[in-house]
Amino acid sequence: MKGSCLCGAIEYGVDAFTGPVRHCHCQSCRKAQATAFSSNARAFRNHFRWLKGKEKLSHFESSPGKLRHFCSNCGSPLMAEWLHEGQVIVRVATLDDVPHIDAFEHIWISHDLDWLNYDASLKSFSEAPQ
Ligand SMILES: [Zn+2]
Ligand SMILES: [Zn+2]
Repeated sequence: MKGSCLCGAIEYGVDAFTGPVRHCHCQSCRKAQATAFSSNARAFRNHFRWLKGKEKLSHFESSPGKLRHFCSNCGSPLMAEWLHEGQVIVRVATLDDVPHIDAFEHIWISHDLDWLNYDASLKSFSEAPQ
């Protein structure tokens, strides 16, 4: 699988995930991604590689030893890692390929925003309405 940032400066490859895609609703993920929840999956370090633009990477150490890597040009969050762990956390929504995984779960819904609404009756548009 291949992924990239919004501006295309950085590309990465990931061979396989070790578990489900988890839509994490925790406050840290919400702030880090600026989204209501963040879709993440873990991969062994040797199954993840930067393919292009590594010099454009920047990171924020949100907790001691936890690095959140993002593109210094466009800001896309791409991967996070605990330096002492053997797996990295991939921001699955930045994949350009369909993730090779069929398990999805929601976690940390105790941190859900009050306005996050799963109701299927919400108005939906195939693109932005005029
Ligand atoms: Zn970028
Ligand atoms: Zn989280």
